[in-house]
Amino acid sequence: MLMKMSEFLKVLPPKLCYICGERIEEQHECYGNKCHKCLGFKDL
Ligand SMILES: [Zn+2]
Repeated sequence: MLMKMSEFLKVLPPKLCYICGERIEEQHECYGNKCHKCLGFKDL
């Protein structure tokens, strides 16, 4: 059941915005789980 690291990375699901559910393009980890659109609402 062991997988090579390269194969493990392939099966990782894309990051999804936890607010709107859109796939998040690769960004720095500091963006968390929010897409660009939802990041604009962080002041609310
Ligand atoms: Zn979003």
